[in-house]
Amino acid sequence: MHACKMMAGHNKRNIILMHKYEMGRLLGQGTFAKVYHARNTRTSVSVAIKVIDKGKVVKVGLVDQIKREISAMKLVRHPNVVQLNEVIATKTKIYFVLEYVKGGELLAKVKRGRLKEDVARKYFQQLICALDFCHSRGVYHRDLKLENLLLDENSDLKVSDFGLSALAECRRQDGLLHTTCGTPAYVAPEVINRKGYDGAKADIWSCGVILFVLLAGYLPFYDKNLIDLYKKIDSADFRCPTWFSTHVRRLLLRILDPTPGTRISIEKIMENPWFRQGLDHANLLLRYNLKTNDAPQVDTDKNEDFDPPSTNITTDSKQEDEKKPANMNAFDIISHLSSGLDLSGLFQESDKKTESKFTSTNTSSAIISKIEDIAKDLRLKLTKKDGGLLKMEASKPGRKGVMRIDAEIFEVSPNFHLVEIKKTNGDTLEYQKVMHQEMRPALKDIVWAWQGEQLKQQQEQQQ
Ligand code: ATP
Ligand code: MG
Repeated sequence: MHACKMMAGHNKRNIILMHKYEMGRLLGQGTFAKVYHARNTRTSVSVAIKVIDKGKVVKVGLVDQIKREISAMKLVRHPNVVQLNEVIATKTKIYFVLEYVKGGELLAKVKRGRLKEDVARKYFQQLICALDFCHSRGVYHRDLKLENLLLDENSDLKVSDFGLSALAECRRQDGLLHTTCGTPAYVAPEVINRKGYDGAKADIWSCGVILFVLLAGYLPFYDKNLIDLYKKIDSADFRCPTWFSTHVRRLLLRILDPTPGTRISIEKIMENPWFRQGLDHANLLLRYNLKTNDAPQVDTDKNEDFDPPSTNITTDSKQEDEKKPANMNAFDIISHLSSGLDLSGLFQESDKKTESKFTSTNTSSAIISKIEDIAKDLRLKLTKKDGGLLKMEASKPGRKGVMRIDAEIFEVSPNFHLVEIKKTNGDTLEYQKVMHQEMRPALKDIVWAWQGEQLKQQQEQQQ
């Protein structure tokens, strides 16, 4: 593993991160981070780099949560979610290399005036589709607010900070929710009350607040006095302005339900007649992340959008718990090693000839027992090692010695795993034969998607 080097030029403007990203202007600043424009020196592609002070994150002890979410994040690709490309860590800082989103913040747009119902609905639909996709992969946002909704060059919504929800937790543990942040305006009552909460339901609440703001031009819950504001949120004390249609009012009442148990689910939102308006086939395809070039585009940089003004590594460090699959330990390393480190390996493409990866929505025990069955059928001797590692070995030597295959299971969430299968010894052709003719077909039932392959192929496998 290469050490991370920061090459500083003669002046600050020429800083090249990891020999790869030329740092540019400051794009914005949040509570925990500064976001810079940067350019990949090889491809000239623009990226946004979010720089976070490591001490702050490690200090509040949320390392486990962050590493889990980072590994989940790289599996999440959705047209309405800002893509996390790479994570780089140095002694003191963590750099998140993100897809650069050109169109600015949705907030800026709302500041110019409340949006027309069909424009607001389009953004809300894109937000809900992004959420549905991430939730299905066990990733929750926990800090949805207008500031985290960016627009791309086609005025399509991109939810930012997905997978960085531990940062939102940091803020809460630091008590920043009460100070720097100013207002917990988008936060669900059960989160404020520090009850154990369901990330999905809490995200849905925030979407309700967002929908309200888009349509009204102001927040549904507001009070200069924090205690009074909490009370309002806790009892969902909000009033819809006169221009809200009956359908929107009804939907908002179902979303801004202070009891998470009875609050509407994403499925139900997606069935709502108001929500479905204008949601054509292309948009539904987005729900399953199928490639579509004819997704409706909202041409929103025009004044028609507005109503007249009224008032979002794997490492070799072993887990203590032998039964549990290994988590991706990027942040363990960040917190324990003092030297600089490159985590980009987490995101690198593997050697496709000798390595395959798939995701599975099965439990680790179901995945293990499936692999055990396959090994038995293929007469491979299987040994279970710590941390979700399965070692398989052929009974007889092949052309280049005994074929050995490792299968390693990484937990993203209890029901979502990444499985890596690779050849560690033997002839590549022999391995490929076993892999393609035997293993892959036998794994079919537990594979959700093979990683790094064409979507078309995935669809074929799912059928
Ligand atoms: P918080 O700390 O609560 O997340 P925030 O969302 O305002 O607050 P950041 O997430 O640090 O702060 O982002 C700061 C600003 O940088 C954003 O408001 C946005 O304008 C800009 N920004 C963030 N990510 C990107 C991106 N991928 N592309 C372009 N600009 C971005
Ligand atoms: Mg943000």
